[in-house]
Amino acid sequence: MSFEVKGWCPGALRPMLSGDGYVVRVRPRLAELSAAQALGLCAAAEEYGAGLIDLTNRANLQVRGVQPGALPDLLTTLTDLGLVDADVATETRRNILTAPTWADGGDTHRLTGELLARLEALPDLPPKMGFAIDAGPGPMLRDTPADFRIERGSHRGLILRPEGYPLGIPLLPGAEIDTLIRLCDWFVASGGAAAGRMARHHAPLPAWAEPSLAPATRRPPLRPGTHALGAIHGAAFGQIQAGDLAAAILDSKASAIRVTPWRVLLLLDATPGPRTGLLWDADAPELRADACPGAPFCPQSSVETRALALALAPHVQGRLHVSGCAKGCARPGPADVVITGENGAYGVALNARAGDSLPHHGLSAEQVRAHFGAS
Ligand code: SF4
Repeated sequence: MSFEVKGWCPGALRPMLSGDGYVVRVRPRLAELSAAQALGLCAAAEEYGAGLIDLTNRANLQVRGVQPGALPDLLTTLTDLGLVDADVATETRRNILTAPTWADGGDTHRLTGELLARLEALPDLPPKMGFAIDAGPGPMLRDTPADFRIERGSHRGLILRPEGYPLGIPLLPGAEIDTLIRLCDWFVASGGAAAGRMARHHAPLPAWAEPSLAPATRRPPLRPGTHALGAIHGAAFGQIQAGDLAAAILDSKASAIRVTPWRVLLLLDATPGPRTGLLWDADAPELRADACPGAPFCPQSSVETRALALALAPHVQGRLHVSGCAKGCARPGPADVVITGENGAYGVALNARAGDSLPHHGLSAEQVRAHFGAS
């Protein structure tokens, strides 16, 4: 197994070099970009990048294929659009997932806003640590990694749930972010930095933070189709042509877009209906498939990934994951069928994660297609 493990998440101020140039990641505040911001991002992706935008499984947007000489102009444009933090420290701290169906003045909106305003009060946490503000009628971000979650409890009040604990700590109205900051202080004081993430930190919680309340029933992830807030569109493998996204925003008269960790975008106030380059069918096979960029875009991959995944998706029952290498960036969890690149060939495993042992390996793309009846 050979891949490079990075101890930090890339951002706009810390772009990451990939096989097709730099990847510049934007973390939308409140999971939202106004239509003007989104159109500006699309134009910047076309002018300074390869014209592609990724929707990441952390609900961020990435401009791909940025050449080194174009980085300063791209950053200036993104800063003018209000999409860049003042410095790397703030960008790193602002690792907040927000449930995308929030309503103005609702708990998710209120608490995300308060946390954004109080980032300076947080202690220095390991750089990959993050928060989920998921305070709607029931949690919907449960499958997306986060270290501390504010969720609705089954008693209808709010709870703070440290990752790894099935129950949450009761939150008093008005003191939610105080309690979150206090728990982060405990994490650092109890040696959590050595563990790196809450789920790996085994120190007992302090007496004041006893988890005692169950979360409310979870809500399903968003799927393409009409929504009370507008229209939801999917992106195969989380990648969209910037021109297609801009056209969808303009043609649907969307007022804003909301990002999600599920490779779908919520276009607020949009006229529902299919749009070029986006998925509108909630049962599209592409939505059951994950594939990282693979070769030639990622230097860690020795194989092509997405064309193979597109060909296989209609022929695979359940979840398909095609990974350029054992790191498994596109899907950390298991899938029904996992195909992993290895020394220029593919390996196949069932009910496994990328990186698990591969019962079948050394296969060509043609052999894999034939095996699944996709040739
Ligand atoms: S899983 Fe894919 S994107 Fe991640 S390092 Fe491997 S080849 Fe690159």
